[in-house]
Amino acid sequence: MSDVELVLRSTRVITPEGARAASVAVSGGTIVAVRPHDAPVEPGARLEDVGDHALLPGLVDTHVHVNDPGRTEWEGFWTATRAAAAGGITTLVDMPLNSLPPTTTVGHLRTKQDVARPKAHIDVGFWGGALPDNVKDLRPLHDAGVYGFKCFLSPSGVDEFPELDHDQLAASMGEIAGFGGLLIVHAEDPRELAAAPARGGPRYADYLATRPRVSEDTAIEGLIALARRIGARVHVLHLSSSDALPLIAAARREGVRLTVETCPHYLTLTAEEVPDGASEFKCCPPIREAANQDLLWQALADGTIDCVVTDHSPSTADLKTADFATAWGGISGLQLSLPAVWTAARARGHGLADVARWMSTHPARLVGLDRKGAIEAGRDADFAVLAPDETFTVDPARLQHRNRVTAYAGKTLSGVVKSTWLRGQRIVSEGEFTAPSGRLLERKN
Ligand SMILES: [Zn+2]
Repeated sequence: MSDVELVLRSTRVITPEGARAASVAVSGGTIVAVRPHDAPVEPGARLEDVGDHALLPGLVDTHVHVNDPGRTEWEGFWTATRAAAAGGITTLVDMPLNSLPPTTTVGHLRTKQDVARPKAHIDVGFWGGALPDNVKDLRPLHDAGVYGFKCFLSPSGVDEFPELDHDQLAASMGEIAGFGGLLIVHAEDPRELAAAPARGGPRYADYLATRPRVSEDTAIEGLIALARRIGARVHVLHLSSSDALPLIAAARREGVRLTVETCPHYLTLTAEEVPDGASEFKCCPPIREAANQDLLWQALADGTIDCVVTDHSPSTADLKTADFATAWGGISGLQLSLPAVWTAARARGHGLADVARWMSTHPARLVGLDRKGAIEAGRDADFAVLAPDETFTVDPARLQHRNRVTAYAGKTLSGVVKSTWLRGQRIVSEGEFTAPSGRLLERKN
């Protein structure tokens, strides 16, 4: 181990076995050993002692809409990856829609990679998209390195990314299962949405009524039936309805290859607190009631929900109109996800090891990133240094997102990210960034 160049020391290193005092030795950007706290540091190696700040594995956010190229007034790789780095995220996987072009052919993937490469402050991977007419493109995209395929069952919000009907879903799922890929689904049933009361205006309760829990439950029930029949690997995106949890738990017990994520906003914000006209809280599916939220936390604790990822989906401020029916649906959360989730998690008795499992280990596992997601020998030296007991009040002006519209404005959160490290290099510290050093990641064949 004479080539160790860096040792990070903390009284709270969050390892897969839990939090402990340790020294983490890094060589060539890779963790080579997790040693006792007071282990001697070899001559020539640099010691970074972060004291009582926690050392977490860099977070892995598998649900980010970067929108670049095409809708760069909404976000972009430069701003998204800086905001992510400032929030302790070291890897993101970009969603296939809202950029122009969407990631639905290999050519489009290459276009997006070329745009992302010089701007990436953290590591970036890509999802592909499954559309009604691109079944033939799925295998080439898989071979080109996307981590799986996103589809919608109801309108996506942008015309160039249409949803799949039942037969198209079955065709795409069958194709993807045929090459061992992963299908990730925005699960809201269009018939249930059409049957819900269509109320516009500024009242959140009216908006909530337009996207009832049953639309998620019905879509997930159908998805489970299809996944069971086809033997496909399926992931439910941004679960909000707690009513679907028994279905999900039963399917998993029976061996259906199903994983599930939820998002910081479903875990930390409630329908009861959304002011009239505050469409910065609008997303699909919607933020639901406090009682629903309690059950989502229970499902995280018992493992029914695997991951917490942001679904960062920004737009310009002018699209966040006071009418919930017409406002853009999407919440910006990249920079604030760790403190938001940590604040609520600790209040419910969870530890940082739980947060690391939900926000780093499990998302990395979802997409097969075996060098990410944990502080242990053989993984990339990606870290977030967090002061878990320090608090701050969210000031939109301090966000690195391109648009500083946030549902968290004015909230006091616990957990200040002091620095973020990518392959042994400190990429941001106290708001100062290094030049972009992120890599583009591709799924390994
Ligand atoms: Zn999304």
